[in-house]
Amino acid sequence: MLPEDIQQYIDKGIKLIGVYSNGAVIARGKEEIEKAYTNDAEEVEALMHGNGDKHGNAKGTRISCFRFVPADYEYIVIDIDRHEGKEDGLENFYTWLKKQGLSRSSLPMYLRNIDENNQCYVRTKRGGYHLYFKCPNAKNIKFENNPADSVECLVTKPVTIGGSCMNGQKYRLFGRLENAHALPKILLEILRKKEPKTKPMTKQSVPSSLQKSRQSATYATPMKREERDRLKKEMKKEIRRYLELKGMEITRQSMMLCPFHDDHNPSAHVYEETVYCFTCNKSFDIYEVSMKLNSCDFKTAVDDVRQTLGYW
Ligand SMILES: [Zn+2]
Repeated sequence: MLPEDIQQYIDKGIKLIGVYSNGAVIARGKEEIEKAYTNDAEEVEALMHGNGDKHGNAKGTRISCFRFVPADYEYIVIDIDRHEGKEDGLENFYTWLKKQGLSRSSLPMYLRNIDENNQCYVRTKRGGYHLYFKCPNAKNIKFENNPADSVECLVTKPVTIGGSCMNGQKYRLFGRLENAHALPKILLEILRKKEPKTKPMTKQSVPSSLQKSRQSATYATPMKREERDRLKKEMKKEIRRYLELKGMEITRQSMMLCPFHDDHNPSAHVYEETVYCFTCNKSFDIYEVSMKLNSCDFKTAVDDVRQTLGYW
């Protein structure tokens, strides 16, 4: 028997892909990854018991975390991070909406009090929210207006499903998938709109609340290409933080499980700007790691890295 939360996805015909506890998907290479998505309850159960899927992926490793691609099923998911003692994504979400002219009280009830009134959402392991919305044609819509720091609109990127478990912490699904609200038109319009170009701010005109936070300050100021290139270089040095944010554990000796082969003894060493796997006999920089993890191109990898690290 599958956990009830996971069963809901299976019942909706949603294909899932398994994820190792270090955050890497259970297959490698774009084609293999596509094949590893499954809607077969027995296969999902076999993965959970460590018996592997029908392609032999993850044999010997119990898989307790699965992801799906929202746009493939006409959903979009708004991911609101909440980190204990750090910034509160929910506050950022409301602040961002307010900037777009929507006060909290003008929102539909299910957005005002998510816990009580939303009919379909996932509580993430750190207490954040994945809000599910129905959005026909989500695949063809360009979502240009990136909500805010620690709030992300997930459309074509795989999202961890309710019922998943990572490092002993659970993602819980509340409500039912078929009851997800349609994405409110006003929200759709806002998300589609390109962030208006703001005038470069002088230091004095930046509100003091923004000055404190580097990411808000850079977000508010349009960035020149040289600045972006500089940041791209700078982010390379953050490979360790990036890997940790992606759920990988790094030992005191700077070793970790390699996400690119079926690794049971940490065989990858994290250096200042690269990670080197002694088994794969290959070295990866932060963007190469991202491209491989997400099987995406360089441009998407840059976006993924900056979003994960919380830059501009
Ligand atoms: Zn390796």
